[in-house]
Amino acid sequence: MKRANRILLSAVLLAVSASVVFGYTLNGRKWFSSSDASFRLNSSSAPSCCLSASQLQNQILSGLGAWGILSNGGSTSASGAKNDGVNAISWAKLGGTTLGVTSYVTTDTGQSQLCNGNLLYRFVEVDVRFNNAFAWQTSSTCTNGFDLAGVATHEFGHAAGLGHSSVPAATMYPSVAACDFSKSSLDSDDRAGYSAIYSCH
Ligand SMILES: [Zn+2]
Repeated sequence: MKRANRILLSAVLLAVSASVVFGYTLNGRKWFSSSDASFRLNSSSAPSCCLSASQLQNQILSGLGAWGILSNGGSTSASGAKNDGVNAISWAKLGGTTLGVTSYVTTDTGQSQLCNGNLLYRFVEVDVRFNNAFAWQTSSTCTNGFDLAGVATHEFGHAAGLGHSSVPAATMYPSVAACDFSKSSLDSDDRAGYSAIYSCH
């Protein structure tokens, strides 16, 4: 009886550990100081459909706030992916099916950390752009648009140091469907990836 219980328990434990399969990847960079990781928003060229200016801003900033190392530094006139000393968030007409893009503008490869077995270089400047050619909609009115908060959370995951994940439920999965509003909440896979980068100093 006891023995059977023990066998059953170990089988259950095995099943639990087998289901924890992470799919995250890292992009090989990290912010060495939170004071370096301040982002500024340029709201010019924002799309007029379908969210208000304050909704657009709030959803972008909620994505920024999902990752502890990143912070909101206010507004800027800087835009695009340029080496100008500003971590700029801006709007642009991006090609094809691109909802957003994160550019690792400057990385100091002379400074590195070995963190949980991963060699990570120092982020100096990152710029993030969102596509103003798409319809960004709310869950209550969505027809064929996209969730800006979810896409922002994904892009700022890159800005924090993550690559793409193979886990479909993860925010860092490389694609998102229209009217999918699940990506603004981090999956355990996203949290594990972030922890792999920032759980050491
Ligand atoms: Zn991506």
